[in-house]
Amino acid sequence: MIDLLNSTKKPGWTDIESKLNSINTFLNVKPESSFIDHHGLLKIVYPSADNTDLQELLNIITWYFERQAAKICQQCGALGFRRRVFSENPTLCQQCYVFEYNNRFESGVL
Ligand SMILES: [Zn+2]
Repeated sequence: MIDLLNSTKKPGWTDIESKLNSINTFLNVKPESSFIDHHGLLKIVYPSADNTDLQELLNIITWYFERQAAKICQQCGALGFRRRVFSENPTLCQQCYVFEYNNRFESGVL
């Protein structure tokens, strides 16, 4: 079971993690790692597959879930956008964005 990402654990991405874990179990594969890159995007890395069909399937799965994570609020799971006003470019919905912005503004980070 992938630990989606222990280092990238986001409450809004629980559904992504659950679906990915089901697929991994079904295909009997395990990602090498997952992380959030410097653009704020989720990256999932599988080891190279033994055959090209499986490799192609893993590439499609990776592509799909990485793009899902780019439009799902990482805090609550609603439709969101990457927020470039924050240095880590988190994907947040409007409500979580306002909440986060206000928190940072009031604590003097922004
Ligand atoms: Zn949200």
